[in-house]
Amino acid sequence: MEKLPQEFLDNMESLLGEEYPQFREGLNGQSWQGLRVNTLRLEVEEFLKLSPWPLQPVAWCSTGFYYFEPARPGRHVFHDAGLYYIQEPSAMAVAEYLRPEPGEWVLDLAAAPGGKSTHLAALMGGEGLIIANEVHRGRAQILSQNMERLGVTNAIVTNEAPERLAMHFPEAFDRVLLDAPCSGEGMFRKNPEARREWSSAHVQSCAVRQLSILETVPRLLRPGGRLVYSTCTFSPEENEGVIWRFLQRFPEFSLEEVCLTGGMAPGQPEWVGGPGELARTIRLWPHKARGEGHFIAVLRRKGTAQLRRPSRGNERGRAYGDFREHLSGIVHTPPQGQPVAFGGQLYLVPQAAPSLDGLKAMRPGLHVGTLKKNRFEPAHALSHTLRAEDAVYSIDFSCDAPELSRFLRGETLPCDGPDGWYLVSVAGFGLGWAKQVKGTLKNHLPKGLRQFTS
Ligand code: SAM
Repeated sequence: MEKLPQEFLDNMESLLGEEYPQFREGLNGQSWQGLRVNTLRLEVEEFLKLSPWPLQPVAWCSTGFYYFEPARPGRHVFHDAGLYYIQEPSAMAVAEYLRPEPGEWVLDLAAAPGGKSTHLAALMGGEGLIIANEVHRGRAQILSQNMERLGVTNAIVTNEAPERLAMHFPEAFDRVLLDAPCSGEGMFRKNPEARREWSSAHVQSCAVRQLSILETVPRLLRPGGRLVYSTCTFSPEENEGVIWRFLQRFPEFSLEEVCLTGGMAPGQPEWVGGPGELARTIRLWPHKARGEGHFIAVLRRKGTAQLRRPSRGNERGRAYGDFREHLSGIVHTPPQGQPVAFGGQLYLVPQAAPSLDGLKAMRPGLHVGTLKKNRFEPAHALSHTLRAEDAVYSIDFSCDAPELSRFLRGETLPCDGPDGWYLVSVAGFGLGWAKQVKGTLKNHLPKGLRQFTS
């Protein structure tokens, strides 16, 4: 393992004083592995009955669990089916503190690969709207894939600079999350790359960038709305320091009183010479809590709601009133939302979705299918919102069935049923589509998701 940067250790020693030896020992200790049950697909109790691994609850997240060696849940078919998201346990606290309500409009400004956006979606139970934004295109694609895997129905994925979103959505959101790009000191135990890239100049440049992204939030959040800022680093410059400078510049924001659980600690105003209010921020230390290093600040914008939400526009697509007809031979109850077509692709956007005109939308909503002349092909994303009983035809396998491995490799399967679209599921959870033609199920799992064995 790469050595820890000496300058970082010296800084931490001067900040932590007597506590430093415990911190130092914590950095050499075990890192925690976690998964968060995707309650969009199943309840926690149902998952605990299915789980092949022993799990222990995470104190600050009722859907989060620790798993232990030799468990590899990231390689299990339940992961492919989106029953959970592999997430660092401390990171599970962030969406819990934003606590969106079903029906609200929520913006995740720096969302890839999607740990917190998928958590927000689960907390909202499919009601309301999430704009999950990621500035880097490649990462925005991974974000879209994760939203699909977890069967999120009410999210739009954009690939924009925060500044452009601020122009497009003036004071439109009830809640905003900024999980900021940071120097990653909190990940030193897990990630040798973060150790290699560290320098005090990088810490300073991260702090400048964090503040400049944060400064777009007052234009995005409605009065009375809630903002959560988080990082996975220890440096006061990127944490209490950024929040203090933000509060000085925007006095209409204040830090909320928060409850600390599971070994969380308050922020440290004295480290940045700031006001006592900064002690309302939250620090997760690896020697105190069962997770990696994290910082969270929960802020509220003063005032009451005066929503000025942009209305829906149809400028880039035309709603297809008859899409239900296409779906009626495939699923018993078509999913909720407003159907919109982009080229031949049909999407469902949340009922109250805003116009996306002029924005780069990687995923304008839930992809439900493709119209090809008079044929309709259901989208892979749709399969992850369904259980076997939701489909007109389905074929279900247990997780160790050889047919399931064949399906995941992209092979065809024999089947006696009538011709039509079949939802292929594992333990009842939709995984993908196959089309039955004369006794053979033709595999429609997207090529990029097929598993090849050497
Ligand atoms: N919230 C994500 C999750 O839970 O999966 C992790 C986000 S990661 C800590 C920070 C993200 O900020 C990265 O995906 C990075 O590409 C993005 N980013 C980098 N520079 C940015 C900028 N100037 N504005 C907005 N986002 C930026």
